[in-house]
Amino acid sequence: MPDTINDLLKIVKEYNNKKADLEKIKQAYEFSDMAHKGQKRKTGDSYIVHPLATAITLANMKLDAPTIIAGLLHDVPEDTNFNLIDIEKKFGGEVAGLVMGITKLSKVKYRGIERYAENLRKMFISIAEDVRVVIIKMADRLNNMQTLSALPPQKRKRISLEVLEIYAPIASRLGMGQIKGDLEDLAFPYVYPKEWKWFEKNIIPVYKEKMEEIGRIQEEIQKEFNENRVKVLSMHGRRKHYYSLYLKLLRPQYDRDITKIYDLVAIRIVVPTVSDCYKILGIIHKKWKPLPGRIKDYIAQPKPNNYQSLHTTVFSPSGKVVEFQIRTLEMHEQAEFGIAAHWHFKEGSINFFSRLPGFHPKGYNPPKKLKWIHELTEWQKYVTDSKQYLDSLKIDILKDIIFVFTPQGDVIELPEDATPVDFAYHIHTEIGNKCTASKINGQIASLDTQLKNGDMVEIMTDKSRKGPNRDWLAFVKTSSAKGKIRSFFLKKSRSQR
Ligand code: MN
Repeated sequence: MPDTINDLLKIVKEYNNKKADLEKIKQAYEFSDMAHKGQKRKTGDSYIVHPLATAITLANMKLDAPTIIAGLLHDVPEDTNFNLIDIEKKFGGEVAGLVMGITKLSKVKYRGIERYAENLRKMFISIAEDVRVVIIKMADRLNNMQTLSALPPQKRKRISLEVLEIYAPIASRLGMGQIKGDLEDLAFPYVYPKEWKWFEKNIIPVYKEKMEEIGRIQEEIQKEFNENRVKVLSMHGRRKHYYSLYLKLLRPQYDRDITKIYDLVAIRIVVPTVSDCYKILGIIHKKWKPLPGRIKDYIAQPKPNNYQSLHTTVFSPSGKVVEFQIRTLEMHEQAEFGIAAHWHFKEGSINFFSRLPGFHPKGYNPPKKLKWIHELTEWQKYVTDSKQYLDSLKIDILKDIIFVFTPQGDVIELPEDATPVDFAYHIHTEIGNKCTASKINGQIASLDTQLKNGDMVEIMTDKSRKGPNRDWLAFVKTSSAKGKIRSFFLKKSRSQR
């Protein structure tokens, strides 16, 4: 049975019971359903199944109503006869602003050149002025991955590569462990089919065996909890994600030996308070002997990324080892949903879009992006892995860089405050020399306009034009544009001599 709007509303109600919000979510569903009427997904389902699934993922992360509504409407401007202005009229500027952000991000594509991936990741982060846009995009991509088998093989591979190169690393940086793991596991078989076959044959059966064992252990320990009258909010088996396990197995100290991995599956216990966590740990240790050196108190000493939990590995009755992870609900949500769990949406209030030509959603004040990028770099500061540390430095450098698009969707990196003339010279010297006018996001703009992240820039040229204008030197930002303009006049003065 596919999910329905009532399933979505039920999840939202558990954390947000505001009548007005629920009503608006319902209206957004009906509007999206109407706008996509007659369209089908490649799976054969009616189109609304996809935005609905996206919204449900967002509701499971307890996101606010505008985010869920934007999730329902995210494909409307690109795929239907309704546009952002219609969305603004019906659902307000905040929702329209989020949908606009998603539409911009949809232009980010992986084109197979390896060193390009890092640029794309940077761009992805920098053009999303509002982290909620990235979260919606993650939920969107998750559902697309779940239905990927309906697409032709070539496309499956490209989309899966995008997931491994762009989406998963960003989700990871945002602390969104669950989505990161799910995305990677869905992409794994398409990107590395041979390796997946090996994994499927040799490793998955071990999981199954372990999961069954864990079921029995849970029953036993539940009795102890009842006798001791400790309240447990939830207890479940959690398996390590496939792709991250695969990468772990490749490390020399494991050498593809699954018996060296102790945390393949674990029992996760969620309790109301911190003192309950320690109580539970005591009960477990009283019943089963802990493995020396494997008791970890990440509550007293959180990991650098703020991860908190108690971990212990014990010898089960059958002599096998099993790991327990004990945490409060807050710790659990932080670990699974990361920035989506702890983001406070009221922070920051600069009206970025009021400075953009073209569309201005009224009442949309996205939080200042540097704040959440800054937060990311703070997290990364303590990470010892040098590759990750380097990545975080790259994000820091982002402050002075913008990314703009050609009409074909190619990405051009320019310094902050660059102009259409810089853009034109970046494409080709002749385009620079012969440019006469420009369009930014479809609207005519003067050649000295300062470009903004995510702008789509189009250059009009005049073949009969003799060359650049000397006045351009006053506003161009890149040294290459300056150099090319100067060299044009230098050559000209030489030939006149
Ligand atoms: Mn979509």
